[in-house]
Amino acid sequence: MGHTTRLAPSPTGALHLGNARTFLINWLCARQSGWKVTLRVDDLDGPRTKPGADQAAIDDLQWLGIDWDSGPTRQSTRTSVYAAAVEMLLRDGFAYYCNCTRKEVESAASAPHADDGAAVYPGTCRGLYRTRADAIAASGRVPAVRFAVRDGRFDFTDNFAGPRSFQLARQLGDFVIQKSDGTAAYQLAVVVDDAEAGVTQVIRGDDLIESTPRQILLYRALNLAQQIPAYTHLPLIVGEDGKRLAKRHGDTRLGEYRKRGVPAERVLALLAKWCGVRSAGKDLESASMQKLLADFRLDRVPRAPITFTRHDDAFLRGYRS
Ligand code: GLU
Repeated sequence: MGHTTRLAPSPTGALHLGNARTFLINWLCARQSGWKVTLRVDDLDGPRTKPGADQAAIDDLQWLGIDWDSGPTRQSTRTSVYAAAVEMLLRDGFAYYCNCTRKEVESAASAPHADDGAAVYPGTCRGLYRTRADAIAASGRVPAVRFAVRDGRFDFTDNFAGPRSFQLARQLGDFVIQKSDGTAAYQLAVVVDDAEAGVTQVIRGDDLIESTPRQILLYRALNLAQQIPAYTHLPLIVGEDGKRLAKRHGDTRLGEYRKRGVPAERVLALLAKWCGVRSAGKDLESASMQKLLADFRLDRVPRAPITFTRHDDAFLRGYRS
């Protein structure tokens, strides 16, 4: 059977150089190996979704020379599919209603924090409510739905990051699969969509590595274990302060460079460096997709977080520093 990967931008902001590098690596792996590429817009996070950001992401990807074979599909159109999956997990005893407020979760004395900074839910509501109505009656609040994580160790091997091990209850805890407003949470939507699209390869930033055990647990609980994809998590691009590339590091949106007349080949040259692609030991001044397709190797991608420096910015803008 052939392989499929997906490009899944979240239209909560514009694509910046860091996202662009992840999408580029995903695309290069796919085109080098003959995988199908599908484009999915992860637009479930209503309040944070910015109007027009989905089209801007599509334009930015195309400007770089990235293409896809199917899509775009939009998560916001799939409410009933996600709801059916949540009902199934509730029915089969994998999930439960939770009417704790965010504040209650944060301040639960026993709640440690997961490595990704989220409070680990101490399981307060587990086993308390049989139905949604019971949960509402007890608190007056409409409940969220959480996946019940059994305790134990969880191991998986990432294609790039190598073997990883998690203590499920202590590091992850029971996680939300449906928010109290009825929308599906990221973990659930991604699994349902990837399974339905036949995605066999997930390539993304390593800020999502802790989502992987959660997502694999969901595949199993939804009877989709046969479809668990291979995972490749890549180190993020950081600013000079060592923090994940963000607004405070300047305007690194692709659209902004494009507007200033920076050619795509110049942006690709910087991304090439960040992908470990050089020529005769030197950084490229300009790069084409053909060059990248010929020379990219996943095992040459730098393993440590890569720093976006002011020299990189100056390089893109066309002057030496
Ligand atoms: N849309 C998600 C993001 O931009 C990616 C989801 C995923 O790769 O699982 O962070």
